[in-house]
Order: sequence, then structure tokens, then C-alpha cells
Amino acid sequence: MKQILLKNAYIVSMNTRREIYNNGSILIENDKIKAIGKIEEKSLSVNAEIIDLKGKIILPGFINTHVHLSQQLGRGIADDVDLLTWLRERVWPYESSFDYESSLISSTACCVEMIKSGITTFLESGGQYVEAMVEAVSKTGLRASLSKSVMDVGEGLPKSWIKTADEEIEKQIELYNKFNNTSEGRVKIWFALRTIFNNSDNLILKTKQIADELNTGIHMHIAEIAAENEYVKSNKGNSTVEHLHNLGVLGPNLLAVHTVWLTDKEIDLFKLYDVKVSHNPAAAMKVVLGFARIPEMLEKGLSVSIGTDGAPSNNRMDMMREMYLTSLIHKGRTLNPKAVPAEQVLEMATVNGARCAMLENEIGSLEVGKKADLIVLNQNTLHSLPLHDPIANIVYTMTSENVESTMCNGKWLMKNREILVLNEAELIEKVKIKAEEIRVKAKIELPNRFPIINII
Ligand SMILES: [Zn+2]
Repeated sequence: MKQILLKNAYIVSMNTRREIYNNGSILIENDKIKAIGKIEEKSLSVNAEIIDLKGKIILPGFINTHVHLSQQLGRGIADDVDLLTWLRERVWPYESSFDYESSLISSTACCVEMIKSGITTFLESGGQYVEAMVEAVSKTGLRASLSKSVMDVGEGLPKSWIKTADEEIEKQIELYNKFNNTSEGRVKIWFALRTIFNNSDNLILKTKQIADELNTGIHMHIAEIAAENEYVKSNKGNSTVEHLHNLGVLGPNLLAVHTVWLTDKEIDLFKLYDVKVSHNPAAAMKVVLGFARIPEMLEKGLSVSIGTDGAPSNNRMDMMREMYLTSLIHKGRTLNPKAVPAEQVLEMATVNGARCAMLENEIGSLEVGKKADLIVLNQNTLHSLPLHDPIANIVYTMTSENVESTMCNGKWLMKNREILVLNEAELIEKVKIKAEEIRVKAKIELPNRFPIINII
């Protein structure tokens, strides 16, 4: 039995009463939280690891509900371009030039970046090499729901990506049977629907049926751009959400990503069917999707969480920054300083994220019996002091540099800013080489923004 005691910390538990233990302790036994609050050291086993965190903050690990692992090496290939150029001329050629090895490097780099910003669980939108993603998650120690990128219709798609609905479903069932609940239970396999542009009704219906049978989730980009609703209306007679409602697909295991263009009626439908929402503020602004009506959704009691999206659309896998943006953009949009306050942002990044991951009984808060997924924040930096209002300070002033240590499933993944699960310096070199190799293979030429004078 392995015991770790973290003592004298400011513990933000995010339990149902949202209690904060000032000068509190947490006892971790193997992968779970055994006790929290006041803990007598004499009750511990002789070889227990005891860490004094006086003056530091402990939080539940963040849950990033929308990530594209295989886009990590594409950071910087699609900045300041419109969405169609972004997709068809940059990201699709790039991703379709991937093989297992590039996918593994991309996924691993993305996981490590997430660990460094305090993320312990993430939900992957769907990539081509799920096996490589499983390998990366297994190695880096994170918790994740992974899925395959699934597309059976659509204009401009790389040919090798288009499969029949039956082929897509069969492959996903195979992945589920092979990988669901592997890596000490950290890996879950979900089903994915890329967008309504790329998925037939037949595929959508089959996905819903099988995901329900297997009691797993469905990850889908929904109402991402205004043109999406126009397209669905002219082709299927209704908006995306109404169409999915008519098909019977709305339900608690559906994670709707972006949801920028929702009407009041559609928000009510989401509430009625307990559809989960992933809000990605940076990507929505950078790729100019628009401003999702998040305060309205939270007001109605929807489970709204936060996602980073992929590296070409954010370009940071950084939950600290994403929380900051979440609070700010909705104040700006609604001209209301009380919109999405700091405590609500923390709920989105933790307990709401756990509901979106369908893991609310295991993660999202620090409580006895839950998994030991937590982070330690060191606020002792000039940019985050003074600490008059700790909860506000976490959201408004701290950055990922304040994340000192990250633990998932009772295991330290990063301690005192050092990544423990792999050699970070080696990974950095691999990222540089592989990213350039793929850019050349995908024939992506980026214009020089300023004249370059090469000095020989
Ligand atoms: Zn996405």
C-alpha cells in the first residue's frame, strides 16, 4: 500500500458544499483519497511520503473537455486565416500526412503540455491513430476519453478519411473492446461525430444506438458556425440541434462542443435532455466562430465545462489561461461584471468537467473515495501576489507557471515543475524534427510576415 500525505495546504475541495480546508491535509492511498481535513500523522504507514505544502493551494486536477491530440504538431500552421482555409488548406493536409509515429509524438507533446497547466483529465475529439493516443495517455499517466475521427460524408475531405457508416461503427466498437478501461482504468473509449457536415443521419443514429448500449459518451462539434445551421436547415429542414433532437440523439451522454449558435429553445432542449457542453473561448475567438451564450446556459443549469480545442486553433493547451478568458469574454459580451464569476469558472473546470466526462462519481472534487487527481499551486510569484482573494486570484492572475505539481490516479506526473513520466528535453527535440517533416510532406507553405535577411 502506497500512502502520500499532503499537509498544511489551502485545499479547495470543490465538494458539494464547496468547502475550503485552510491548513488542511489530504491522505492519498494508492489511487484514491483516503482522508481529508485533519489527519494524524501517527496513523500513517512507516514509508508514507509526507509533503509539507504550507502556503500552497491544492485543487482538483482540471478537466479539459475538448482536445485534438493529433493537431499538436500543427501549432502555427493556420494563424490569421479564415475557417475554410484553416480546415481544407492547412489542418486536413497536415493531419492526413500523419502516421503512427507522428501521431504518438503529437499526442505525447500535447499530454505533457496539459500536465504542465494542471490538467489531469481530457476528452479527445477524435483522431486517426487511436492506438497512438492510447500509448501516449498510458505513458504520460493522464486520464482521458479517446475517440476516433469519424466521417462518412463531406466536401474537400482527404480521400483516405472517408469511410462508410458501417466501417466507422465497426472500427469504433473494435477500439472500445480493445482499449476501454485500460491503463489502470484511466483510458475510456468514446464515440465521435466530427460535425453534421461530415456525418450522415445513418451514422449519427447508429452511433447513438451503440454508445447507449455500451454506456459510453459521444463527442461532437455542434452549432459551431452560423453557416452550419443554414446548411442543415436547407438540407434537412431544421437547425443542427433540432435535427439531432428529431433523430433522438440528444441525451446525457452527448458532449456538444462550441455550441456558439444556439437559440433559447435549443438551450432548453439541452437542459431537458441533460446534453453536456464544452466551451472553448480562445478557439471560438481565434477561428472567429463567435461568442457562445454561456451565462444563459449556466443560468439554466446546463453542465458547461471548458476545453482548449487543438493547437492550431487556440494555440495553447493551457487551462489557466482558458479559465481567465472564460470569465472575461462573457463580462465583455454581456457588459455585466458579475457574469461568469471566478467561483463559477472553477466549477466549470472541475465538477462540471467531471459531469461532461461522465465521471462525476470519480473525479472533479477532492473527497474521500474519489480518485487522487489533484494539483498544487504555488502562488509565491510576483505576478500572483498579493493573495487577497485566493479563488479570484487563481482565475484572474495565476498562469500555468503557478502549477507546481500535478498528480493523477495517485501518481505524481509533475513535481516541482519537473515532468516525471518521461524525458521532456528528448520530447522537445522529437517535436521540432517531426513537425517540420510533416509540414514539408503536407506541402504547407507559410508566408513570411516580415522580410527575412539570412546572414551567412
Ligand atoms: Zn474541435
